[in-house]
Amino acid sequence: MRSDPVPGPPLAERLRARGMRLTPQRQQVLAAVAALEHATPETIAGRLRDQAGPDGAAPDTSTVYRTLELLERLGLVWHTHLGKGAPVYHAAGQRHLHVACATCGAVTSVDPTLLDGAAERLAADLGFTVDVGHVALSGTCRDCRERAGTETP
Ligand SMILES: [Zn+2]
Ligand SMILES: [Zn+2]
Repeated sequence: MRSDPVPGPPLAERLRARGMRLTPQRQQVLAAVAALEHATPETIAGRLRDQAGPDGAAPDTSTVYRTLELLERLGLVWHTHLGKGAPVYHAAGQRHLHVACATCGAVTSVDPTLLDGAAERLAADLGFTVDVGHVALSGTCRDCRERAGTETP
């Protein structure tokens, strides 16, 4: 077996090589992940239900969960945790760091190299590799800080 050339064979071939098929359902889930930003499996299932319409068949949330896990093992999507609640999914692509406002829930994607200093220290001191795409930094966004500032002079 040789390693895949970059950018790699089409998705359908990659799946076939692992004895899997890109079923319409898997394709739909993948398209929904790409279209929605930071969507939970619940949100993705809701979008598929909307697209299917009242008479169409759409996968339920637990099927969407399983499909996302499969797509993640194939390296086609990745997830991150934005605090409590379900993980949110991204189409494969550039990893980024998230900052999430604990007050209003706003999520901002930022350059992961912001954490380079901390990551280097953790690697040197603990031999620990940080997965910057996997977690969000929690705090208070500018809007919420300004709002709080006007309420308490
Ligand atoms: Zn906020
Ligand atoms: Zn993100």
